[in-house]
Amino acid sequence: MSYRACGRSGVRLPAISLGLWHNFGGVDTFENVRAMLRRAFDFGITHFDLANNYGPPPGSAEENFGRALNLDLRAWRDEIIISTKAGYYMWPGPYGDGGSRKYLLASLDQSLRRMVLDYVDVFCSHRPDPDAPVEETMSALDHAVRSGKALYAGISNYDPDQTAAAVAILGSLGTPCLIHQMKYSMFVRRPEEGLFNRLQAAGIGAIAFSPLAQGLLTGRYLDGIPADSRAAKPDTFLKRRDVTEGRLKPVRLLNKIARRRGQSLAQMALAWVLRQPVMASALVGASRVEQIEECVAALNNIDFTDSELERIDEILGA
Ligand code: NDP
Repeated sequence: MSYRACGRSGVRLPAISLGLWHNFGGVDTFENVRAMLRRAFDFGITHFDLANNYGPPPGSAEENFGRALNLDLRAWRDEIIISTKAGYYMWPGPYGDGGSRKYLLASLDQSLRRMVLDYVDVFCSHRPDPDAPVEETMSALDHAVRSGKALYAGISNYDPDQTAAAVAILGSLGTPCLIHQMKYSMFVRRPEEGLFNRLQAAGIGAIAFSPLAQGLLTGRYLDGIPADSRAAKPDTFLKRRDVTEGRLKPVRLLNKIARRRGQSLAQMALAWVLRQPVMASALVGASRVEQIEECVAALNNIDFTDSELERIDEILGA
């Protein structure tokens, strides 16, 4: 594993981080959850990303993570970065969603209980809340850090202007923003239009979520929709209707470039995300140990020639 500076902080993150959004919940097989976490850590994946609502059911990914940590990894707590977030709907009533101090701090306490932790390493505002003053949301992150329940603060899904406002407030409170989690992949390039420059200038690390476009930027769907894939499962954000021939056409062309580079498409997709200087880590998901192994091996070749990048842009219509 290689480790990258996270902005101007003293923290280095593994170039590949593992997220527990899917396949780590109460509906999944615990022994598989446990095996993936162990294998990831053995590879040097020291950063695990969670959120209060990951499951299903919501909260169960944190419970499973706490259980697996206890069984296998507790002795290495000081070698592990655990991040969690709050910002999306978690419980009924007016205090279980959004960006209020009430919600964020209650949610962090619940996350710590589920994971059986004294502190998380990073606590993030999962999304901006237009109905809550950003000062209130940031003051909740600052409080989480000052109370010792989180070591660092982060944000996710904030646009460039929202990021600038949040970062300025956190800075004025004396709790710098460590990280910004954004959706970024060959299929989602919006952060290139301003966000990356802002983060670079502010010294904040970027971490790209869904760098494989939830599996589309892999070989997973080249021959149809496998029964055990995300697109075949109910209640996911990748639907069968998203796996169209129109979507797969560029995937097939990209796959050819990856093969010529001596890697799989998944590996090239990760290398492509990591080519951004501001990128501290590519945050992948996985449903089995072998996928984690394949993703980590992407690091054997993360350099691109100019002509490869040009051809990729051409395929993506950029
Ligand atoms: P990816 O784009 O990495 O998609 C992961 C999926 O791709 C896997 O579940 C698997 O699909 C497939 N896959 C992974 N590796 C391989 C491989 N080597 N070969 C073939 N297929 C592969 O990321 P996610 O969408 O899962 O997001 C990653 C993490 O980012 C989340 O777990 C979460 O922590 C974070 N996140 C944060 C968000 C935010 O708002 N801050 C939003 C979304 C995610 P299959 O299951 O079909 O096998």
